[in-house]
Amino acid sequence: MPSYKAPIDDVRFLLNDVFHIDRYSNLPGFADASEDVIAAILTEAGKFCEEVLAPLNRVGDTEGCTRNADSSVTTPKGFKDAFAKIVEGGWIGISAPTEYGGAGLPMILTQLVNEFLSSSNLAFAMYPGLTQGAIAALIAHGSEDQKKLYLPKMIAGHWTGTMNLTEPHCGTDLGLLRTKAAKQADGSYKITGTKIFISAGEHDLAENIIHLVLARIEGAPEGTKGISLFVVPKMLPKADGSAGARNALACGSLEEKMGIHGNATCVMNYDGATGWLLGEENRGLHAMFTMMNEARLAVGMQGLALSEVAYQNAVTYAKERLQGRALTGVKAKDKPADPIIVHPDVRRTLMTIKSFNEAARALVMWTSLQSDLAHRSPDDKQRQHADDHMGLLTPVIKGVLTDQGFANTVMAQQMFGGHGYIAEHGMEQFVRDARITMMYEGANGIQALDLVGRKLGRDGGRALQAFFAEVQGFAAEHGKDDTMKAYLEPLGKALGHLQAATMWFMQNALAKPDNAGAGSTDFMHLFGLVALGYMWARMAHAAREKLKAGANGSADLMNAKLVTGRFFMERMLPETGAQLARIQSGAASMMELPADAF
Ligand SMILES: Cc1cc2nc3c(=O)[nH]c(=O)nc-3n(C[C@H](O)[C@H](O)[C@H](O)COP(=O)(O)OP(=O)(O)OC[C@H]3O[C@@H](n4cnc5c(N)ncnc54)[C@H](O)[C@@H]3O)c2cc1C
Repeated sequence: MPSYKAPIDDVRFLLNDVFHIDRYSNLPGFADASEDVIAAILTEAGKFCEEVLAPLNRVGDTEGCTRNADSSVTTPKGFKDAFAKIVEGGWIGISAPTEYGGAGLPMILTQLVNEFLSSSNLAFAMYPGLTQGAIAALIAHGSEDQKKLYLPKMIAGHWTGTMNLTEPHCGTDLGLLRTKAAKQADGSYKITGTKIFISAGEHDLAENIIHLVLARIEGAPEGTKGISLFVVPKMLPKADGSAGARNALACGSLEEKMGIHGNATCVMNYDGATGWLLGEENRGLHAMFTMMNEARLAVGMQGLALSEVAYQNAVTYAKERLQGRALTGVKAKDKPADPIIVHPDVRRTLMTIKSFNEAARALVMWTSLQSDLAHRSPDDKQRQHADDHMGLLTPVIKGVLTDQGFANTVMAQQMFGGHGYIAEHGMEQFVRDARITMMYEGANGIQALDLVGRKLGRDGGRALQAFFAEVQGFAAEHGKDDTMKAYLEPLGKALGHLQAATMWFMQNALAKPDNAGAGSTDFMHLFGLVALGYMWARMAHAAREKLKAGANGSADLMNAKLVTGRFFMERMLPETGAQLARIQSGAASMMELPADAF
């Protein structure tokens, strides 16, 4: 059975030495996040994930969810007790506003805890995770009454949340959406339609489920301009705020699927269900994007989370499995063969995953910190800068961390040889579970189009220019330090490729949009590599500073950081040259064949 250990030392290095969280104590909630509080949260969350959730991961996979005759859904054995512990520990609301019962702590802590949850049991983690997304949408767009009614229950975890966008004929293209909303005399709406693939749509973990549903009000314009968002509770709240009568909605069936079996993926039927408008009429997509942006960042982190747990198990196996002898001579003289970790190709695989994971964690944390700044900073300029960063980096994090996260689970599985294909070791489950992260919350091709088509040029390219300036500023500040050359020179080259690709789009894609579409996935990955490379430069600098200051017991970890960063620069970053070449080749050879030639 696979195991999991929360990467607490790495997280503390990032929080304290790379991002200096203590410098933000002027922001609401940060002063309460003292080193002791953070240590207690990480330790408790880590213990819960290692001891309770990780052992349930296989149970969830083999048992799955069951739909009963009355359309209720039973989650796998142990999920209910584990969810009760989430409620008891107040984990859903650690960063939620205190006025509604949250702890108000920085968002960055929620993201860290969510990484641990997702590594140990992705299918389970989606229940609280979707609730956090729905909470964010209610905070941003709900009326005061809606906030008072729903937020305390959801933040406590007594009620959970879902997002309902997808319909059978309508996935990426939400303009095709057909679910109807008919206005009633009392201001409520009757919602009628079928949604598919709704995660956590029905379950037995909480007393109520609050569905956020996209629908078209009768008479609203066609396309995306006529879509509104509704709060549609499974149990209609009574005047005193408790869960009352059953609403006219039900789980019609559960999807049979490749992975995340412990999460109920539901067909949801709304048969004139009572709902209430959330935000403004016909501005539903705008409101839903609040939830989707949070969710996209969270899904990117899921890619990292599965890469991390798969890596940990691959390392354990590589140290134990004895096959062959090292090319440089026998290493384990007392054994019939050397452990496979002596072989360079095994090292290549492990270092590829390790160097990605550590930089990806830094990138998620950097961006979560920007989310805190965007919501909590008193300074308009800082809020705008942070918001720009979030807009630009969200599709990169979602697309790159899940594409590479999945690839890493396959590489980690490969470390087990044929044993990786056998269910007993749990590696094939990581591969199956990771696959969905590339598809939901907008398939990765759509993330790439969002980046190239919408985010690059927004506000005259302000966010992109700020990103370039940040990386160049760091390089200029530390460029004279010889010990940083191994990191800054490759980073400078990769940044040059990113700038050249941006320029190429400006010159070649405005008149011929197929050129933008053809290069979008390469561009997203090129951007991702530069962002991860920048994270490595910052981590290398922080590790050097820490070593200079005596390292305080963490010299091994800091030295490992320096080597791992060098590996990333030497072995991963050069890919940006190939990506640029592919982008500059344009769309011609891709688009020339007629559809019937395929
Ligand atoms: C397990 C699971 C859980 C899910 N959970 C939820 C949930 O909780 N709530 C919810 O609302 N939905 C959920 N979904 C739905 C998911 O978000 C959609 O499947 C996803 O958005 C893609 O839509 P689609 O499947 O209709 O694919 P399509 O939109 O049909 O796309 C098919 C392919 O075409 C590509 N494509 C489409 N349009 C373009 C374009 N313009 N340019 C380039 N490429 C394009 C896509 O990238 C994709 O590769 C879930 C799905 C699954 C499988």
